Amino acid sequence: VISVSARPIETTTGERGAVAVFHDITERKHVETELRGFAGVVAHDLKSPLTAVRGFAELIGDALDDLEAGGGADALQQARRSAGKVISGAVRMEQLISELLDYAAARDATLRLDEVNLRSLVDDVVTARTDHLDGPDLRPDIFVGSLPPVQADPVLLRQVIDNLVGNAIKYTPPGQAPRIDITGRREPDGDVRVQVADRGIGIPDGEHALVFDSFHRASNGGAHPGTGLGLAICRRIVERHGGRIEAAPNPGGGTIFAFTIPASAEHRAPSLVASA
Ligand code: ADP
Repeated sequence: VISVSARPIETTTGERGAVAVFHDITERKHVETELRGFAGVVAHDLKSPLTAVRGFAELIGDALDDLEAGGGADALQQARRSAGKVISGAVRMEQLISELLDYAAARDATLRLDEVNLRSLVDDVVTARTDHLDGPDLRPDIFVGSLPPVQADPVLLRQVIDNLVGNAIKYTPPGQAPRIDITGRREPDGDVRVQVADRGIGIPDGEHALVFDSFHRASNGGAHPGTGLGLAICRRIVERHGGRIEAAPNPGGGTIFAFTIPASAEHRAPSLVASA
């Protein structure tokens, strides 16, 4: 995006002309869009649970007044139910705040590169994501293939895998055990490519590239709670490692997310350019 400002000038010798200054304001526009997104999230996703928390806290106060005045089981039940709502509202706000912090950290945190055993990292994430899901309908059928080790920041890489696996589970309709395949391979140039394929609701045509923008939610995803930040966090982390991330339709229905992590020095393919 270019903005132009121009003004007429006259030189000391009396010649008239004009200067035009071209500013590349792409970055500024990007920051403005991001700030509008933040404002929207704060106004909606933070303010509505906060209003609910306040309302239910007032109900607890009323119930306590009732109890003091000799109120019985009803007042007690109202207090208990309201306390539960206060807690769930607070949990939602906590989750949102930690996503906003992760989003900021994904850009600013120092990368601490280390040799990462990708296979055990993925196994860990899958266990943490599925441990509490009971019943054959809810427990997803997740296949984890063999995965080569990578040179990456283990904490940030875990966030990428966790967001992708979490989304694969979230965007697959309940009652149908989601079949998710997590596979990876080393490419001929030495880069590692990791793929998370699901058979969920899919992303409408033309929207696959947009889902990585901060606060962007696909037009068919409205029924699921979310902020539109998870994939923006993934993109930031992958790009900071020098890799790429993309989404594509799964030919069998659903979506395939794939990202690359560049090869470490020992795996880099030898350069084809002969040295002089
Ligand atoms: P959130 O899930 O919090 O909305 P994300 O940034 O993780 O945010 O995802 C952005 C959007 O991309 C989601 O709102 C959803 O519309 C879409 N999406 C992400 N993952 C999937 C998936 N596995 N299947 C279908 N849609 C997805």
